[in-house]
Amino acid sequence: MSLHRLHEDLRVGSARLPEVRAFVPHYQLTTPASLADALALLTNEPGVWKPFAGGTDLMVLLEAGKLAHRNYVNIWGLHELRGIEANDSHVTVGALTTYTEVQADPILSREFPMLCQAASETGGLAIQNRGTLGGNIVNASPAADSPPALLAYDADIELVSTRGSRWLPYQGFHTGYKQMHIDPDELLVRIRLPRNTGDMTHYYRKVGTRKAQAISKVCFAGVGKTENGQIADTRMAVGSVAPIVVRCVLTENLLRGRKLDDETAGIACETLLHEISPIDDIRSTAKYRLQVAKNLLVDFLRTLRG
Ligand SMILES: Cc1cc2nc3c(=O)[nH]c(=O)nc-3n(C[C@H](O)[C@H](O)[C@H](O)COP(=O)(O)OP(=O)(O)OC[C@H]3O[C@@H](n4cnc5c(N)ncnc54)[C@H](O)[C@@H]3O)c2cc1C
Repeated sequence: MSLHRLHEDLRVGSARLPEVRAFVPHYQLTTPASLADALALLTNEPGVWKPFAGGTDLMVLLEAGKLAHRNYVNIWGLHELRGIEANDSHVTVGALTTYTEVQADPILSREFPMLCQAASETGGLAIQNRGTLGGNIVNASPAADSPPALLAYDADIELVSTRGSRWLPYQGFHTGYKQMHIDPDELLVRIRLPRNTGDMTHYYRKVGTRKAQAISKVCFAGVGKTENGQIADTRMAVGSVAPIVVRCVLTENLLRGRKLDDETAGIACETLLHEISPIDDIRSTAKYRLQVAKNLLVDFLRTLRG
């Protein structure tokens, strides 16, 4: 059987992994009646309980016998983490919003098409019905597909605990591979998107081994607008090219105010190389990822040029 797109350490039944599956009775899953109950559980026994949302990442680990943590809080039924709301300045999306719900929302489709495209290219229908945006963020895979769009859209996120609520920019939330600014007693509750992209061009490309059900080799999201042939504003992020999904601030700053021509594209590609550090792994090579990241940046700039 082909092992493309499987982590080497998640292969089931290898000599290194004689115990193929987790023993389910070793695990506990509790369903709190309310958000307050869920937060109380996380606070009263710090680090003991972990959130379980759609379970699409956690169940893979369970199946492979790699789910180290034993106690889970089922947050699927918490209505405070659901729903998509809009006011004049922002669209706010509950952390439990599934990929199917993202794609079905008219405001997200109109104003945040990269997020909808990311959702439509995430897994298959079963994963899209169950996987959540919040789970994608906190699972913190550098190859996750919604974070590039969320970073390019300048999202903020809300974390809640019994100590209260705090909003923070999503950019900077991830600090290293699977490292992030969330405390063990906190839940990611909402994601907020500023409604400032109406006059912008949106460009999202996920490059994988095939069109469906593939983990990204490189994933690029960019928005931008031009005035008089110059780049007036742009924001971009790239996945699968570093330990975290990278918001490419150096490249953005270099591009603002520049003419949209081949020379600018060349300098932008050189700058991008200072922001990303892809590696060889089971899915691709560093060399391929570097080249594809540059190609996608050039294609984005070409699209901006119209
Ligand atoms: C077959 C398959 C295909 C997939 N394809 C893709 C793909 O193409 N692109 C992609 O990006 N991902 C893909 N995934 C990964 C997965 O579906 C996504 O990462 C999904 O968004 C995870 O959401 P979840 O609700 O299922 O998270 P869960 O598995 O429930 O949780 C994941 C992690 O996040 C934590 N967590 C979840 N919600 C919260 C919260 N609100 N607050 C605090 N912590 C929380 C959990 O404790 C856990 O550590 C795939 C998975 C499978 C099994």
